[in-house]
Amino acid sequence: MKDRFGREFTYLRVSVTDRCNLYCIYCKVPELPRPERMTLPEIARIVRAAADVGVRKIRLTGGEPTLRSDIVEITEAVAATPGIRQIVMTTNGLLLGRLAAPLAKAGLQRVNVSCDSLDAENFRNITKGGILQKVLDGLDAARAAGLVVKINCVVMGNQNDHEVLPMLQFSIARDFDIRFIEYMPMNLGEGEGLYGAPETIPSAQLRDHVAKTYKLIPEESSATSGPADTYHVVGTRTRVGFISAMSNPFCENCNRLRVTPEGKIRSCLLTGGDFDLVGAIRAGASDADLSKLYLQALEGKPAVYELHKFGAVDMRSIGG
Ligand code: SAM
Repeated sequence: MKDRFGREFTYLRVSVTDRCNLYCIYCKVPELPRPERMTLPEIARIVRAAADVGVRKIRLTGGEPTLRSDIVEITEAVAATPGIRQIVMTTNGLLLGRLAAPLAKAGLQRVNVSCDSLDAENFRNITKGGILQKVLDGLDAARAAGLVVKINCVVMGNQNDHEVLPMLQFSIARDFDIRFIEYMPMNLGEGEGLYGAPETIPSAQLRDHVAKTYKLIPEESSATSGPADTYHVVGTRTRVGFISAMSNPFCENCNRLRVTPEGKIRSCLLTGGDFDLVGAIRAGASDADLSKLYLQALEGKPAVYELHKFGAVDMRSIGG
């Protein structure tokens, strides 16, 4: 599936819930958590229709995807979809201690675990109450279950920028990959941290900081590096990525579409029309009709995202 700018779409991020068990300072808190709209069979059909038009990789995200009681069954259904080659999940890791093994058995291959601090108190501040040890236990369980682990760390000035090297050392010690993500001020000033408003630190500055301690060799972009500018940390098995959504948007290489927890296609993280897959399924649409909706959504996909043109963005619902 290609859009009018020649970009090819092989990757679908499915946000299976907008509920979350953390309240990170950079993520918009919904007024009321909504019950899940998409059922397991509906998610299975949505994924099948996407595979029919060329999607090969599915990311399960949220909200917090592991809060769905049927997340193992969802993973199994996605894994059983002809054409889908990669199934990955973005999670805060809190429930991986219990779920990593069944998810791996169901066909999950990789997890991106969000962890912005290794200091229990700072972690609690950033997540407004989260318990770091549970995430660390979840990471251990993911590794033991054979899942490939990547850490996602949103770096914020005034909050956790002093933890960049310790986070990298932690990842190196466990052979995890890590990506440092530029903080995106999505919420127009909402959600200040304890130490003041979080600030975006350009990736180039972070990379220079890391390169003073570690030798970094740039990697060719790969199927798993996504939008990150990725480096091999010499002498280790770790790759470090920098995601520069603010300082250097990567829209020209975008290969993804999103499905919201309401079952609507969102063609861009920040903009793009919502095409109602679940509404169509409930109105009796065929798989071919659903596939057409993906193609229509692509027609409206913008060349470049426009931050704030459409107001605050609810990352918790869209799934990052
Ligand atoms: N609950 C899951 C988790 O914690 O990973 C999945 C949802 S979360 C919205 C997905 C990703 O979006 C996380 O890695 C999070 O750090 C990132 N994210 C959310 N808000 C962000 C922001 N304002 N700037 C940069 N990254 C953000």
